[in-house]
Amino acid sequence: MAIIGGGPAGLMAAEVLIQAGLRVDLYEAKPSMGRKFLVAGKGGLNLTHSEPLEQFLTRYGTRRPQLEPILKDFGPEQVRLWAKGLGVETFVGTSGRVFPVGMKTAPLLHAWLRRLRAAGVIFHTSHAWLSWNADNSLRIATPAGEISVQADAVILALGGASWPQTGSTGAWVPLLSERGIPVNPLKPANCGFDVTWTEHFRSRFAGHPLKSVVLSFTDSQGLTFHQLGEFIITETGVEGSLIYACSALLRDEIAASGQAIIRLDLASGWTQARLVERLSRPRGSKSMASHLERSVGLRGVKAGLLWEFIPKADFADPEKLAASIKDLPIPLIAARPIEEAISSAGGVDFAALDKHLMLRSMPGVFCAGEMLDWEAPTGGYLLTACFASGRAAGLGSLEWTKSHRYI
Ligand SMILES: Cc1cc2nc3c(=O)[nH]c(=O)nc-3n(C[C@H](O)[C@H](O)[C@H](O)COP(=O)(O)OP(=O)(O)OC[C@H]3O[C@@H](n4cnc5c(N)ncnc54)[C@H](O)[C@@H]3O)c2cc1C
Repeated sequence: MAIIGGGPAGLMAAEVLIQAGLRVDLYEAKPSMGRKFLVAGKGGLNLTHSEPLEQFLTRYGTRRPQLEPILKDFGPEQVRLWAKGLGVETFVGTSGRVFPVGMKTAPLLHAWLRRLRAAGVIFHTSHAWLSWNADNSLRIATPAGEISVQADAVILALGGASWPQTGSTGAWVPLLSERGIPVNPLKPANCGFDVTWTEHFRSRFAGHPLKSVVLSFTDSQGLTFHQLGEFIITETGVEGSLIYACSALLRDEIAASGQAIIRLDLASGWTQARLVERLSRPRGSKSMASHLERSVGLRGVKAGLLWEFIPKADFADPEKLAASIKDLPIPLIAARPIEEAISSAGGVDFAALDKHLMLRSMPGVFCAGEMLDWEAPTGGYLLTACFASGRAAGLGSLEWTKSHRYI
């Protein structure tokens, strides 16, 4: 069995197949396994989510029907048990997200690779799959030159196209497209967005977090998003968990109409009437900045956003000022490039796959992980579906080899 790609999906496929007693060769283009998986642990590895499965499944949006059977077989509970089996306990954070104790990927990945190696998986690093030969064997570039590999079944687990330095470059897209396999264009998911900040705002506030704001957005189809959270002002715009949570809607709206206007409530604990009452108090000789801070507690980046987006004259009008504090429009003009995104949307269309994730037009070739056409917000949903689809492709290829060849 040949697996291409040593990320979470490919490694999970390898686990299933080696446990079934097959010979498993895993080819990874980079000099080591799981580079993006390691990157995912930098800010705290969010393995999965503890919410009820019914709610968990809704996070996959329109791809729920395709992913539901896979995730019911290997979902959040199984991910936690799997980590425990590798000697890594997990815990539920305050947000319901599940993390390994220690928050890092390295202990988990290294224990996993050790177990797979001990079970017999043969890892070929610096081995990049190039395409197929005329006899359907695999063309693999190695440091010693190109080789051909014959396998009973092949699992492609090549990742998306974000963070290409980790090996997930999306270079596989034309290789499948030219074989007639429908691949939907890869797009940034869980990404930041550009805003045309003034130089004054950018130089003062880039890097500043915006905490406890409510972000509302309604797209031109009437789909809405409304959530309390936080994000960061960047040199070029906005980025962070609250932005990621609605990034699919924002990205698609910008693609459809050129911009997406998010609306911020900068004082979610306050009613508008109370803001008006406090802002109407005489400010005497105080500056407007100090009046804003003393009367309603707005300062720093939140006050900066008001100066950035509302006419100066509105500061003198408590009604208008309070209305802007509760509902400040910020136009987003572009999604950040896919290379910077946490994940990618698009990929191999599920219509090209059977229920075991085998390509209908290429029997014996399976696909798994982020290269499939689904997306989900951050929260552990990405890794869970990568593990689950890697396992499904592994089990599928096992069934296929049993019924079609050799075993
Ligand atoms: C900064 C960051 C933080 C993240 N944090 C989280 C998180 O906390 N929780 C979460 O759920 N998800 C997180 N993710 C997303 C998660 O890491 C990915 O969804 C997941 O790694 C995808 O797994 P995969 O196996 O499908 O692909 P990948 O992990 O991308 O692995 C694909 C592998 O295939 C190899 N490859 C590609 N082409 C070839 C070829 N031609 N020949 C041989 N090998 C090839 C690549 O080198 C790569 O190693 C994060 C991502 C990033 C970038």
